[in-house]
Amino acid sequence: MSNNLEITNNTGDQIDETEEFVKQHYGTVTYLEYFCRILPKIELHAHLNGSISKNSVCELLKQKGNTSLKMPHFSKETFNLETCFEMFKFMHQLSNSEKNLRFIVKMVIQEFFEDGCTYLELRTTPRQLNNLTKAEYVELILEEIKLNPHDIFVSLLLSLDRRHTAEEAFEIVDLAIKASNRSFNTGVVVGIDVCGDPYAGDFEIIKPAILKAKALGLQSTIHLGEIDGREFEINSMLETFPNRIGHGTFIPKNCLSEVYSKKIPVEVCLTSNVLCKTVKSIKDHHIKEYFFLEKHPCTDDKGIFFSDLSNEYVQLVLNFKLTKQEVFDLSKNAMKHTFLDSNIEDQLQVKNRIFDKFEKFRDQFNLI
Ligand SMILES: [Zn+2]
Repeated sequence: MSNNLEITNNTGDQIDETEEFVKQHYGTVTYLEYFCRILPKIELHAHLNGSISKNSVCELLKQKGNTSLKMPHFSKETFNLETCFEMFKFMHQLSNSEKNLRFIVKMVIQEFFEDGCTYLELRTTPRQLNNLTKAEYVELILEEIKLNPHDIFVSLLLSLDRRHTAEEAFEIVDLAIKASNRSFNTGVVVGIDVCGDPYAGDFEIIKPAILKAKALGLQSTIHLGEIDGREFEINSMLETFPNRIGHGTFIPKNCLSEVYSKKIPVEVCLTSNVLCKTVKSIKDHHIKEYFFLEKHPCTDDKGIFFSDLSNEYVQLVLNFKLTKQEVFDLSKNAMKHTFLDSNIEDQLQVKNRIFDKFEKFRDQFNLI
């Protein structure tokens, strides 16, 4: 990103009318980028396989040696929700062995740490690999989380895919329940997610498994309203009392009143939405409509959209003119909506340590 304020973001939108604001509040764009990078950040919506960076993709392809596997390439114009799922298929082919999966978890955590994240809730759909059961797949990821040497706290959500059968969905919920009963230091599952191609599957089939997870105390987030015209489905999703909503791009008015009354926070993925063409531009993003909802900037798939969490904050500032104090408040506010449980001693300790980092940053920049 240049310092002359003629900025083109990852989504190709021209940013204008920001020069005076950035000058007044940050001095330069370079300083704004610096501020957003060192800001303690909380990532609540990151898919493991979608977060594999280009560098890691190259390394994994190199290790595979003579392979016909190639990363699909899409231009900004041809990229959309369908091509996004093609990218996922490619990423899944890279993470199809124990060795590669360990490498991917390690690198994704390291990259979020290098981006200034202080807490990361990674999500993944348990898969059966050649020599690994779904339970072993989860265990392996938790082992890598435990080995994380960086100053970033990491926990895991297990994702149910919309295309799952009821049996598959219950299997994942059972895995999540089992893996939630362990200490944070050994890697812990803190909730479940519902994801997958929004044009596919039937939410009603996996709904009973979600209700079971909720009844047993797991928290949940749901990719909700990613595409238009799904009122019937959104109503059903809201009946499961999700603790957070992923995207929430197309929430009909009558459903929105329920989201407001339940005060469900939204995981906002600006670059992802624009590149998938579910919103026209960042300036037109539905984030500005949801006045009474808590909103948290997230990356979704930083490896697919080439946008880390710092960049998501930079884009917010450039498009919606946020001051340093507003950026800080937004980031710190996400602490309220992690799935860490304050009633569990070691998770409470993690929350306190994250809080201390925000306090230190606040003092460093004379914020309130
Ligand atoms: Zn997502």
